Amino acid sequence: MSILVLGSGQLARMMALSAYPLGISVQAVDVADNKIVDPVTKQVINNTLERLIEEVDAITVEFEHIPEDLLEIVHRSGKLKPSVEAILTGADRVREKKLLEKLDIANCPFSIVTEVKQLEDAVESLGNSLIIKASRDGYDGYGQWRLHDLAELPKLKEQLSKLDLQKVPLVVEKMLKFDRELSLVAVRNAEGDIAYYPLAENLHYQGQLHVSVAPAPHVSNELTQQAQTIFNKLAESLDYVGVLAVEFFQIGQQLLVNEIAPRVHNSGHWTMHGADTCQFENHIRAVRGLPLGSTKVTSPTAMINIIGCKNFAREMLSIPGCHMHWYGKTPREKRKMGHFNLCADNYQQLGASMLALTEYVPVENFPMLKDEARRLMDI
Ligand code: ATP
Ligand code: MG
Repeated sequence: MSILVLGSGQLARMMALSAYPLGISVQAVDVADNKIVDPVTKQVINNTLERLIEEVDAITVEFEHIPEDLLEIVHRSGKLKPSVEAILTGADRVREKKLLEKLDIANCPFSIVTEVKQLEDAVESLGNSLIIKASRDGYDGYGQWRLHDLAELPKLKEQLSKLDLQKVPLVVEKMLKFDRELSLVAVRNAEGDIAYYPLAENLHYQGQLHVSVAPAPHVSNELTQQAQTIFNKLAESLDYVGVLAVEFFQIGQQLLVNEIAPRVHNSGHWTMHGADTCQFENHIRAVRGLPLGSTKVTSPTAMINIIGCKNFAREMLSIPGCHMHWYGKTPREKRKMGHFNLCADNYQQLGASMLALTEYVPVENFPMLKDEARRLMDI
């Protein structure tokens, strides 16, 4: 059995590592140059994309920003999971907003801007505190601008006037004061069975995910129910197969959808050590038509992204329950280089392990860690 992944980064690599014990081999295509690679060793495989599309049993994606001509070819093979519609929806914030509206799912107040002068109307209707997002090709906070004060508007307009907004419109959102960010990662198979992981709490710094804690502390059954109902609506409407992540803002007891990701998700990496079956294996199972694995939590877990760091000493692995995944990428500022998963028996111990981790890693790359450790220790 074999699967082709569009995209050859760390998500393809972790899918391949989970597929291997199931007797499934994974090959990946670098969508920048259509080279076929082994997603673990990065060795180039001597095969053509056309032949591989014919040979493999299923095709999936590790991210949504796939060139549309490639997506079309793969879609025509009939092997693509999730569907082309799901991938296009995740790749385009305008499409995504339309789907949320159609399904009557609460989301962040927004307007769509296709000409710079419409920004005035957006300020009029949404207020002076805005977050402006390119509708395509953004990730980790890239392709976003923030307006905090009306005085900054002329400069921002000048900046945005350099973009082709007819081709790539902007989604302008009200900057929300939410209580926290949560995400639901769940998996659906072709029969419509769904297995949910618990909500994870996500801490962002400068628009980028730094820490996820799962299960998120202080989650009521009603909140979980709300998240699962939203997931069901989205997944059923897209006839979704595979892992789908939904990012939320929590305000009081209400969840607003921030965005969806039609793939395995960074806020689901904790499942590699904190759940019975990890998100990568469950995604592979779903796209290959195998029964879904149990999503039972085996221990409270914190996932900590290693961002922008060069290689460093690995003595932190002496902390009980500390696991490290190093992606082997060339270091760059703000680039995700790897992640830690810390597992413990309870939140207090998890906090203590996190505090121990701060002794080994540079504070400038892990700015949220100490406060989060203390917060967990106080639960
Ligand atoms: P990622 O790839 O990490 O998911 P992204 O680039 O796709 O990020 P978003 O998820 O839309 O972009 O935004 C990144 C972060 O910016 C959010 O997780 C949140 O912390 C903050 N943010 C986004 N939209 C809003 C908003 N309307 N109000 C307040 N904060 C926001
Ligand atoms: Mg996001």
